[in-house]
Amino acid sequence: MTSFQEIEIAIVGGGIVGLSVARTLQRLGISVICFEAATAGSGQSAGGSRIMRAAYSDPAMLWLAQKARKGWDQWEAEAGLDFIDRTGSFLIVENAEAERARLEGLKLKVRFVSEEEQRVLLPVREPWRAPVILEEEAGTIRAQASIAWLKSSLGAALLEHTPVLGLSQRARHVLVATRTAIFRARRVLVVAGMQTPVLGRAMGVSVPQVYSVHQRLLFPLKPGYRDRPMVSFRDKGDHRHGVLYTYGLPALHDDLFAVGLEPSDTDRTGGGDPDMVVEHTLALVEELLPGLETGGFRIESCVSTSLEHPQDGAPWESERLEVVRRGAVDFFAGGHLFKFAPALGEMLAGMVLGGDVPAMFQPE
Ligand SMILES: Cc1cc2nc3c(=O)[nH]c(=O)nc-3n(C[C@H](O)[C@H](O)[C@H](O)COP(=O)(O)OP(=O)(O)OC[C@H]3O[C@@H](n4cnc5c(N)ncnc54)[C@H](O)[C@@H]3O)c2cc1C
Repeated sequence: MTSFQEIEIAIVGGGIVGLSVARTLQRLGISVICFEAATAGSGQSAGGSRIMRAAYSDPAMLWLAQKARKGWDQWEAEAGLDFIDRTGSFLIVENAEAERARLEGLKLKVRFVSEEEQRVLLPVREPWRAPVILEEEAGTIRAQASIAWLKSSLGAALLEHTPVLGLSQRARHVLVATRTAIFRARRVLVVAGMQTPVLGRAMGVSVPQVYSVHQRLLFPLKPGYRDRPMVSFRDKGDHRHGVLYTYGLPALHDDLFAVGLEPSDTDRTGGGDPDMVVEHTLALVEELLPGLETGGFRIESCVSTSLEHPQDGAPWESERLEVVRRGAVDFFAGGHLFKFAPALGEMLAGMVLGGDVPAMFQPE
């Protein structure tokens, strides 16, 4: 006779999203296990920092980011830790005045910053000659610290080094197969990052998610720039070197600053040739970021998932999130999720506890 461990909810994937959902469920007293193939936070959620911002085009995403901001406040209060450096973030776009007015109309706190203020808020970079918008309530997330806290608060509800190998729908439950055990769960949520479509395919479900890889470089800060709070930036206005946009943010560990760029490659699949990306990033840093040491940089190859929707541009520009529901299993797909984690935890937990798929996650 086979014995199964009974659980209410199984979460597949221990990235920031899976950990957040599992924590919400655990606090509601639900029996939940979060299965993680490697160590929690070692997938796309790895690394020191992420940009927290709300300046999205889609009002639903903006709403989600604002909901998440309150969630981060709550997490910080519960943990007694600072997860966000609330320094603000710079945005540089071609139609700056129109964008500022649009964001202000959405009730975001935004304003233009002078060259002098740019030197104070982002001392490692030469001031822009173009107008710079400051999103005042944006900031930089301490990614590692937040993962570590979620992980410790989950305790035995997180099973690391336990890949889920198969999901089988039965009349009243789903069988969750790992290498050494089979669990019987009432519902399953798959938040396995780039592996989500693979798990979907094994159940005959098509999850419309793609991924791309790009390289970003981590530069040591020169002495005099260390331990100084700094804003992040997203520059969508400088298209030299075949670049679509450039971003930079303090790595918040090891006195490093990360610079990445998205090449405007013609096939629109994201990423670009790694050697060219490194070359362009170095040229850009040498020209515009004198506060960074160009010797001794580190390369970070990053995976970014997004929904596939080739009709409206490159995957990294995607602003949609989607849940594909098959019986008692929900597959969550999308990208640029870190900032949304507390809000996603709450919404996806409500969904797996018997709610409908929230309207903003339903397929178009
Ligand atoms: C370099 C970089 C910069 C980014 N910048 C930002 C930013 O500034 N702001 C922002 O909001 N977002 C940003 N993002 C995106 C954000 O980090 C990701 O969207 C987010 O971390 C994804 O979290 P996740 O939990 O969905 O996936 P992941 O972190 O990838 O977690 C999925 C987990 O599932 C596990 N897994 C896979 N298959 C199985 C299986 N069969 N069984 C069990 N476990 C499995 C994996 O091991 C992995 O740990 C950035 C991403 C990168 C890479």
